[in-house]
Amino acid sequence: MLKIRKTFKYRLYPNRKQRESLLATLDVCRYLYNDALQERREAWKLCRKSIPFAMQSAQLPACKQADAPMRGVYSQVLQDVLHRVDKTYKGFFRRGNGFPRFKGKGWFDSFTYPQAGFRVEGSQVSLSKIGNVKIKWHRPLAGAVKTLTLKHENGKWYACFSCIVDVEPLPANDSVVGIDVGLECFAVTSDAEIVDNPRWFGTAQKKLRVMQRHVSRCSKRSGGWRKACMFVAQLHRHVFNQRNDFQHKLSRELVNHHGFIAVEDLHVKGLAGGMLAKSVQDAAWSSFIAKLSYKAESADRLLVKVNARGTSQQCPCGAPVPKKLWDRLHKCAACGLKTTRDHASALEILRRGLRLRTETPAIAGVALEAPSFSYGA
Ligand SMILES: [Zn+2]
Repeated sequence: MLKIRKTFKYRLYPNRKQRESLLATLDVCRYLYNDALQERREAWKLCRKSIPFAMQSAQLPACKQADAPMRGVYSQVLQDVLHRVDKTYKGFFRRGNGFPRFKGKGWFDSFTYPQAGFRVEGSQVSLSKIGNVKIKWHRPLAGAVKTLTLKHENGKWYACFSCIVDVEPLPANDSVVGIDVGLECFAVTSDAEIVDNPRWFGTAQKKLRVMQRHVSRCSKRSGGWRKACMFVAQLHRHVFNQRNDFQHKLSRELVNHHGFIAVEDLHVKGLAGGMLAKSVQDAAWSSFIAKLSYKAESADRLLVKVNARGTSQQCPCGAPVPKKLWDRLHKCAACGLKTTRDHASALEILRRGLRLRTETPAIAGVALEAPSFSYGA
C-alpha cells in the first residue's frame, strides 16, 4: 500500500506561562538560525568554503554552555533549526534559490521536534521544556507520527503532526463537482444529476409506522408485545444499515469520479436555523458528509465545505436571483441560466468551493504538504 506524509493540524491552548516559553523558544531558534547563517555566509565570503551541518551541530553544546536561554530549549529542536539553515543553503546552491536571508522578528514562526521530546496524553500534548499544553482534537490523528511542528499564526498556536499514512490513491482526476442537499430528493449535483432517496426509504418508513402502531396496541409486556418490539428494533436496524449502505455507495461513486468535491458546511447553516422536517434530512446529510470526507481523504481527493448561506438566492454568475421556498425554478435575468432551483444551488456551491481552493491552500485545519493538495476536509 502506498504511504504518504500528511500533516494534521490542531489548535493549542497554552496557558500564560506556556505561551511565554513558546515565544521564548521561538526567539532562541531565530537567533540560532541567524547566527548559523551568519557563520556560513562569512565562511563563504572569506574562503569560499561551505560549513557542513555536522560541524555546526557539533558546536551546539558549547553554545548552550555560554547561553542560558538556549538551555531552556529541547536540544533536538535546536538541531532542527540547523537543519533548516542547511536546507535553505543547499537550496541556494542547488536550485539557485535566493541567498538565504536573516529572519527578523515575526519572520520565524515555527519550531520542530524532529523525533522525540513530545508525547500525546489525552487532551494534552506534553512538550519537553514547555509543559503539558491543552490541545483540541477536532479530528483523529492517524498513522505514524514522525515530527511535531509548533506554529504561531495570528497570535494562535497550532500543533502540526507530520504523519505517515496509508492511502489507496485513485488516478488523478480533474473533474470537479458541487453537491447540494435536495428538498425533494437526497442530493443534486452541479452536473444536474439528481440523487433520489432510495425507494426503500418510503416503504421502510411506512412499515415502521405500522409496526409501531402494532406495538402500542399490544398489552404491555405480553408475549405479542415483546415480539412486536423486537420487530421494530430489527426494522430500525435494517433501515439504519440500508441508509448506511446507500450513503457508502454514493460517496464511493462521487470520490471515484471527481477529484474535487464541494459540499455545504452544515455547521454554518445550523446557525441559520430551520424547519423541524429538515433536521432529519440534515442528520442524514451530515452522516453522508462524514463518509464522503474520509473516503476523499484516503483516496487523495479534495473535499471542501463551503458556507452555503444564500446559495439558493444567487446565480453562479454572481447576480442575485431571489426565490421563495416554493419557487422550484431558477431563472437568471443577467446570464440567462434556466434550471431547477437545486441544480443552481449545486452550481453555486461548486463555484464557492473552487474560489475557496484558490484563496486558501490549507483547508479545515490540515496543512498542506507541497506541492499537491491531498486530503479531505
Ligand atoms: Zn446568472
